[in-house]
Amino acid sequence: DPRVHGIAAAIRVVPDFPKKGIMFRDITTLLLNPKAFRNAVDLFVERYLGKDITVVAVGWQTEKCSTFHHSALCLRKIIHGTLLDWIATMNHNYDLALFVGLVVFTLHPGRGIEARGLIFGPPIALAIGAKFIPLRKPKKLPGEVISEKYDLEYGSDCLEMHVGAVQPGDRALVVDDLIATGGTLCAAMNLLERAGANVVEFACVIELPELKGRDKLKGKPLHILVESR
Ligand code: IMP
Repeated sequence: DPRVHGIAAAIRVVPDFPKKGIMFRDITTLLLNPKAFRNAVDLFVERYLGKDITVVAVGWQTEKCSTFHHSALCLRKIIHGTLLDWIATMNHNYDLALFVGLVVFTLHPGRGIEARGLIFGPPIALAIGAKFIPLRKPKKLPGEVISEKYDLEYGSDCLEMHVGAVQPGDRALVVDDLIATGGTLCAAMNLLERAGANVVEFACVIELPELKGRDKLKGKPLHILVESR
């Protein structure tokens, strides 16, 4: 599809973000290009319209730290260089990590990494007539929740969903901007399926195929727009 080239060209690669050695695929430049953004949403909608999808779910992860534990983990991701390595030794000293975290967040406002699946999920859900479910970090949802823990490069994380958001038999599409190791999508699938949904497919704008995230998806189909090597 010729639209894919415009989408790929609109995604910026930022070297050494959020830490040295990482080539960060930045979809904010895609959002600055209304034609390419619209094309990305349209391509998904064309694929899923009429497929009887009843739920679109996205992992809604903000890496702003609200607990001591998350302070230590988030800091490792957000700051690079010597300071990062120094703080890495503080994983079990949460008071100190929190203190350093507060100082660094004050010095580096706006460095928290935002939830980007959220950008693509709602327009797709509205266009195909499915309900939209945010899967969130612990303690963000006000009602009764079910939780799913999963492993990260450093430590573990957790996604939560409101009890009752999914009905048994719901057909779910899980959307995110990017699949790397597949850990996030896998946790989302486990959560939805424990609540009785059938995850029909995963949809991401970008795949990093070297990381073999697909292998974590238990054979479920993954649809992507752009491969990034
Ligand atoms: P995974 O769980 O390792 O597959 O990581 C996927 C999650 O990390 C997604 O929610 C992405 O938004 C985020 N992510 C990882 N690497 C990048 C990147 O290079 N650009 C944008 N998001 C990323």
